Amino acid sequence: MVAPSITLAMNSKALEQKAKGVDVFAFGVGEPDFEPPEAVREAAKRAIDAGCSKYTAVTGVPALKEAICDATERSRGWRPKNENVCVSVGAKHTLFNLALALYEPGDEVIIPKPYWVSYPEQVRIVGATPVLVDTREEDGWKLPPAALEKALTPKTKAVILCTPCNPTGLAYTEEETKALIDVVRKHDCWLIVDEIYAELIYEGLKFVSAAKIAPDLRDRMIVVDGVSKTYAMTGWRIGWALAPAPLVKALDVVQGQSTTNPTAVAQHAAIAALKGSPDDFARIRATFEKRRNAMVAGLTSIPGVKCRKPDGAFYAFADVRGLYGLDWNGKKVATDEDVAFWMLEKAHVAAVPGSGFGAPGYVRFSYAASEERIAAGCASIRAAAAAAR
Ligand code: PMP
Ligand code: GLU
Repeated sequence: MVAPSITLAMNSKALEQKAKGVDVFAFGVGEPDFEPPEAVREAAKRAIDAGCSKYTAVTGVPALKEAICDATERSRGWRPKNENVCVSVGAKHTLFNLALALYEPGDEVIIPKPYWVSYPEQVRIVGATPVLVDTREEDGWKLPPAALEKALTPKTKAVILCTPCNPTGLAYTEEETKALIDVVRKHDCWLIVDEIYAELIYEGLKFVSAAKIAPDLRDRMIVVDGVSKTYAMTGWRIGWALAPAPLVKALDVVQGQSTTNPTAVAQHAAIAALKGSPDDFARIRATFEKRRNAMVAGLTSIPGVKCRKPDGAFYAFADVRGLYGLDWNGKKVATDEDVAFWMLEKAHVAAVPGSGFGAPGYVRFSYAASEERIAAGCASIRAAAAAAR
């Protein structure tokens, strides 16, 4: 059976509370709290007035593909061609199209655990089998190359990596990515690398794209990216795959028989985003690094909560098992899901239980909120926990 998206379910719960007038600390869904750059909003208004109201090419307008190629070259140091780009209705849709285009029943798809909620479910939807490979917090949640090697079989159709990672915040170094690629190189399968958080990496860590590291593997590598996280454009729904041209043709067919093109106006907004100044990233990155520090400090100040410092993205993945046993209206908090629902009820903090990411005992806190809100939310959990002991 396919499970519903727990990230979206928690978001609905938080929105329900908000609608009732509760001041919810929104650390649940992963979406930046600021507005997209002004140039993006202006470009969208201009596109509406210029009559961008018709169908476009299924895989995106050439100007957007061009802008994606330019931005990839600028930020990742390698340049795809327009024929390598398929633009979809968000990166989630990109991954779903890939599942439809690539996997068949009997195929195995390797996914390190903890994983972003939608990866295994999309594999299941098309009747293929997700192979979930354990990682350890002591290893920074990083997939050891030997564990990848062990999981690969003749049935492996693809390996999905996410760096920086949702939900753990891990970011592989260049050497670590290279070591994983060296394992994949020996096997006949696809490598899908979700780089949607590439710009959000902290403490001077350097992001190096898998496609830059291994040009020889680009004929069976797919880079997934989008504007949702980097430009605070979650609702605009623009994401893309950078893939070999024959696969882009297959994605064109899948998309042409399902959604057709991503929304025309949103494509023009995305062009403006991608043409924005790289200085914006430095500012956004610095803001998120401070928020990360505030979230880790706030969470670790709660007796019973442990949290390692994430390297990137905007999630803190905290071990909450020390909160088990708290009193909750006469019963006991006993699971990570209990912790999440107890926090929402008693501390008005929305966060996502780790079980949804294959990691019971943990809760994911999104720190896409101001430092003040983060500190206040953590103080609220601390007070609720003290009252429940
Ligand atoms: N990949 C990862 C790792 C994510 O966290 C998300 C969540 N937004 C997506 C893909 C999908 O992003 P979108 O569909 O908004 O482009
Ligand atoms: N990716 C974000 C998250 O993990 C948004 C929700 C979703 O797309 O599922 O919270």
